[in-house]
Amino acid sequence: MRRPLVAANWKMHGTRESVNALLAGLFQPLSTDCADILLFPAYLHIGQVAKALTGTTAALGAQNCAEQAEEGALTGEIAPCQLKDAGCHWVLLGHSERRLQLGETDAQIVRKFAAAQSAGLRPLLCVGETQSQREAGETLKVVTQQLSAVIDVLGIDAFAQAALAYEPVWAIGSGLSASPEQAQEVHAAIRTQLAGYSAEIAKKVRILYGGSVKAANAAELFAMQDIDGGLVGGASLNAQEFGAICRAA
Ligand code: PGA
Repeated sequence: MRRPLVAANWKMHGTRESVNALLAGLFQPLSTDCADILLFPAYLHIGQVAKALTGTTAALGAQNCAEQAEEGALTGEIAPCQLKDAGCHWVLLGHSERRLQLGETDAQIVRKFAAAQSAGLRPLLCVGETQSQREAGETLKVVTQQLSAVIDVLGIDAFAQAALAYEPVWAIGSGLSASPEQAQEVHAAIRTQLAGYSAEIAKKVRILYGGSVKAANAAELFAMQDIDGGLVGGASLNAQEFGAICRAA
């Protein structure tokens, strides 16, 4: 009922040359019909990737955006309307690398979420707990609060066109994925939280799992009831590996 979505988060990786090589290798996975495919290149490569995706069904997104929808005097920032103009459909928001290493707050994420939507971009909101929060038994509390921060200000309708990614911080780039059961528990809790506001949106919204997804574990993760695809970092930089993950969806 929910069409799987597999997203590649290339983070701060790539040169024009390596991006071209990766895109060439991805041609087959990009033309698959088994899942929606979404690429998040670095800002610099958005134009290049947009051109390469012409005629494919894959979608394009940015890894971040400014807190205001329209262009303006804000040196070094990129406005959601500019991303839209460059061919983006989606924007990744609230990634833990931005929350933890750049100090991005829930309040900023909410402003970016609103700005993105008013420019016609679909947010993919990341939530997830750190290792110490998990050990303290706070996983569901942390994730619930990160989600509430958006719903409290923008309302549940903000999720009608958005998606979510549960990314336990301890699983990102560590090679240590959450088990399917660990991930499913959190995904189900997120969906229950959404259902408290709108059963219809809860049923429709795609909740991706992210954190050391690879070809070897994708199928068992994606088989869980509330896991609707993946947000893939490291493994998305290898076309064959990413292609296998897409096929697992
Ligand atoms: P990873 O990253 O797949 O390299 O763990 C996932 C992410 O940070 O989105």
